[in-house]
Amino acid sequence: LAGGAVPADGGVVIALERMARVRALEPGCWRIAVDAGLTTAHAQRIARENGLFLPPNPGAAEQSQLGGNLATNAAGPRAFKYGSIGGFVTGLEVAIPPGELLSIGGAASRDVAGCWLRLLPAPDTRATAVAFYPSTERLAAGVLGVLASGRVPAAVEYLDGGALSAVASTYPGDLPPAAAGAILVELDGSGREVAAAAEEIAEALGSSSLARPLTVTGPRSDRLLAWRESVSSAVAAQAGAKLSEDVSVPVEHLAQVIDAVIELGARHGLQACSWGHAGNGTIHASFLVSPESDEELTRAQQAAAELFSLTIDVGGSVSGEHGVGMLKRELLERQWPGPAVRLHRDIKSLFDPKNLMNPGKKLP
Ligand SMILES: Cc1cc2nc3c(=O)[nH]c(=O)nc-3n(C[C@H](O)[C@H](O)[C@H](O)COP(=O)(O)OP(=O)(O)OC[C@H]3O[C@@H](n4cnc5c(N)ncnc54)[C@H](O)[C@@H]3O)c2cc1C
Repeated sequence: LAGGAVPADGGVVIALERMARVRALEPGCWRIAVDAGLTTAHAQRIARENGLFLPPNPGAAEQSQLGGNLATNAAGPRAFKYGSIGGFVTGLEVAIPPGELLSIGGAASRDVAGCWLRLLPAPDTRATAVAFYPSTERLAAGVLGVLASGRVPAAVEYLDGGALSAVASTYPGDLPPAAAGAILVELDGSGREVAAAAEEIAEALGSSSLARPLTVTGPRSDRLLAWRESVSSAVAAQAGAKLSEDVSVPVEHLAQVIDAVIELGARHGLQACSWGHAGNGTIHASFLVSPESDEELTRAQQAAAELFSLTIDVGGSVSGEHGVGMLKRELLERQWPGPAVRLHRDIKSLFDPKNLMNPGKKLP
């Protein structure tokens, strides 16, 4: 999305997909050492087979590699409770110019190079609560209600009216006809913890929802989460393509920015919608375009530029999680004070004084 892996000025691209070994697995100590090319989903499955859990779950888990996850500090829905991948790394083997290898951290008791990840015991119970809302305002009130409940769900996700209608036909249940938005809350923990939290979360969601929120467990919960994951491709299918942004705003501005996405799209003659990780204010704003129309893409980019301005005005970030890369490089100077950009540049040149590693990315 941000062109991180694109050699902008030519150069050498190293593909690591065959460097995908598990170097060490120590389930009793909750840890695993892996090659950088192992996919996220593969590492998650190994953890699960051993009663453990690697929470970070970017939407790209089946394709993305742990090296890429670490390089982008990938997050995803469960970051609300568990944080992003960086918090699970205890050791790294790194190559730095001009070609030196260095090991940082590791598993305290061993001296094996590689990428060491901390795992967690797998929670024994999961549940998902879903609630529908007649307006963005009431949806945002539901999100704030969940935060005020004091419970810490694994994920707090939302779909606005347009995103909801893109996946309405595949919803595994009955959608209330007046629904103009939905919130999904994923809970995990022991059976007792989840049961207690589910009741409070349903109450918090229900104070502004259309009907009593529904809470499901087991395969029904998995089906709901899979339905939520399908939204990106379902939205893209509507016009053939979409320009997707990932701004992030302080949660109290969610309603304002979710509505602004639709207005900005309309002002530029485009259908627009959003969904995302409501708990931490991440808004995947999508402007729908026809893949053949450069002119529509230009209008979508104009709408996105106005969205970035609004985001910065309300104290948000132009990239909540897809990264700065090439697309948002020039926006950093608007979002950050000059000295912050300078510090980033200095840190980069400390590791890479000749600017050989992935030049042309992130820094304006
Ligand atoms: C459909 C979809 C949904 C997504 N949803 C989310 C989400 O909800 N939350 C979220 O946080 N992210 C999300 N993402 C982004 C996702 O986290 C990143 O695409 C992924 O982590 C990048 O991993 P990759 O293997 O694809 O890396 P690449 O795209 O191959 O690389 C990304 C960057 O990392 C560098 N890199 C890769 N491997 C290494 C290495 N071994 N050493 C040093 N540098 C390296 C590359 O040079 C590049 O700059 C989503 C992506 C998709 C496609």
